[in-house]
Amino acid sequence: MLISLVVPCYNEEQALPLFYAEATRVAAAMEKSHGAAFEFLFINDGSRDGTLEGLRRLHRQDARVRYLSFSRNFGKEAGIYAGLQHAKGDYVALLDADLQDPPALLPQMLDALQTGEYDCAATRRVTRKGEPRLRSFFARAFYRIINKMSDTEIMDGARDFRLMTRQMVDSVLSMTEYNRFSKGIFSWVGFETKWFDYENVERVAGETKWSFWSLFRYSIEGIVGFSTTPLAMAALFGVLFCAIAFVGIVFIIVRTLIFGDPTNGWPSMVCIILLCSGVQLFCTGIVGEYLSKTYLEVKRRPIYIVRETEDAPRPVTEKREDATYANKK
Ligand code: UDP
Ligand code: MG
Repeated sequence: MLISLVVPCYNEEQALPLFYAEATRVAAAMEKSHGAAFEFLFINDGSRDGTLEGLRRLHRQDARVRYLSFSRNFGKEAGIYAGLQHAKGDYVALLDADLQDPPALLPQMLDALQTGEYDCAATRRVTRKGEPRLRSFFARAFYRIINKMSDTEIMDGARDFRLMTRQMVDSVLSMTEYNRFSKGIFSWVGFETKWFDYENVERVAGETKWSFWSLFRYSIEGIVGFSTTPLAMAALFGVLFCAIAFVGIVFIIVRTLIFGDPTNGWPSMVCIILLCSGVQLFCTGIVGEYLSKTYLEVKRRPIYIVRETEDAPRPVTEKREDATYANKK
């Protein structure tokens, strides 16, 4: 039985050795307790620090360490997809490199899958300790909104940390869309999921790659990817404003018949025009958001591009210097 640990890494130079130490410790324990063999598959997502060198070194030390290195930063979602594609295990786990997803939970998770009752062991945070208040507030609001809008259930506080059977991994891979929102994809494919709750852990080293703005973009991606309610909302706005306009017309006609037609109401007219054109632009924006996703989707661009793997490492430094020299000549 082989278990693959898939770890997307972006500028994780500092966290990497700590993660490796903890993962190997858990792996050794599970080899004894469950008879499981491991592979550690790291995805270097175009890091600008020494992450790639760290991975090369780890691979030289330990043949269980495999890595893929992207040609640039493609985002965590692309890293997850590449990792799942290249993982060879019968079970595949997805973890962050910063130890916010404690590998120590893996034995329990594997137990759950081995009963045969579950296809996936997933984790969720029950607290958001150590997170800025405002961010927690918006995160909660996001989960409320998306669950109202989408048929796919998105669990509040769910992390990407999960252990899946080969069958479920293959189903996830069968979703080849370009705009990937993993939380939605994992839920969309179905299967039986057992949830493990744990307290939020802060990252061991380095810093988070998610700014407020990138999280906002990500949440829009989630909504657009897994719900068409905003489009229906646009139509609803249209109907609503038509109804208001109709009532307004009747009111004005009746008033004119009764009281005559004094020329006033210019300010209110401006407000109405502004409001209506605002709503129109807003709705066009919604349509545009879906259109842009469709546009990206039909281009069928690859989700990621690999520059180097452990099987095909880059040539060593001296050779590279020779190549530069040859180019200059
Ligand atoms: N990550 C990645 N590509 C990115 C951003 C993040 O592969 O463009 C990885 C990162 O190295 C880490 C995981 O995704 O292993 C989660 O990132 P982070 O800890 O910054 O997010 P947070 O835990 O704060 O949500
Ligand atoms: Mg993290």
